Amino acid sequence: MFLFKTNFILRSLYPRFRWRVRTREKVIYLTFDDGPIPEVTEFVLATLKEFGARATFFCIGDNVRKHPEIYEMVCRSGNSIGNHTFNHLNGWKTEDGPYLENFRQCQTQLGLPTRLFRPPYGRIKRSQAREVLQTHEVVMWDVLTGDFSPNLQPEMILRKTIHYSEPGSILLFHDSLKAWPRMSFALPRVLSHFSERGYRFEGL
Ligand SMILES: [Zn+2]
Repeated sequence: MFLFKTNFILRSLYPRFRWRVRTREKVIYLTFDDGPIPEVTEFVLATLKEFGARATFFCIGDNVRKHPEIYEMVCRSGNSIGNHTFNHLNGWKTEDGPYLENFRQCQTQLGLPTRLFRPPYGRIKRSQAREVLQTHEVVMWDVLTGDFSPNLQPEMILRKTIHYSEPGSILLFHDSLKAWPRMSFALPRVLSHFSERGYRFEGL
């Protein structure tokens, strides 16, 4: 079974991480991991603009290095930017030293003082998190769209995402080639659905 909605157990295990935003206002926080990537990230930026929406991009440092012109577009778009390590490391499988070094390397590559961090795969050891939390907020998610999974149908992703999103929800999408077939289907429809119901979309 695919866990679209972050449950109480997971949240309570990591209470210092941000899972959602406490608000009664109709606001949704879209987040995009793993970019910047030509065409995919450009599509996301254009789609957000179409709906007057803002979001947060958790960038991989190495992709920023490879695609500086796309990164520049993200920076100029008024959306928020976060650190997603330089090489998309899995914290559970990486020693603390190299992990934190990779986190700092990404920060340098981003070239701006973001205070947002999302651990790749949502996996980070407590010892690593303790260090990261000194300077950054660790942002997880409330709704996992599942756009990265080729086993899920785009229509199902859309349906579940709409079903589980509520005021203050943090939604996790990917601006990656892998997620493209599903993200490009679901994103405009999610924006359209909630815009029609009076929601706005903001960066963190
Ligand atoms: Zn990622």
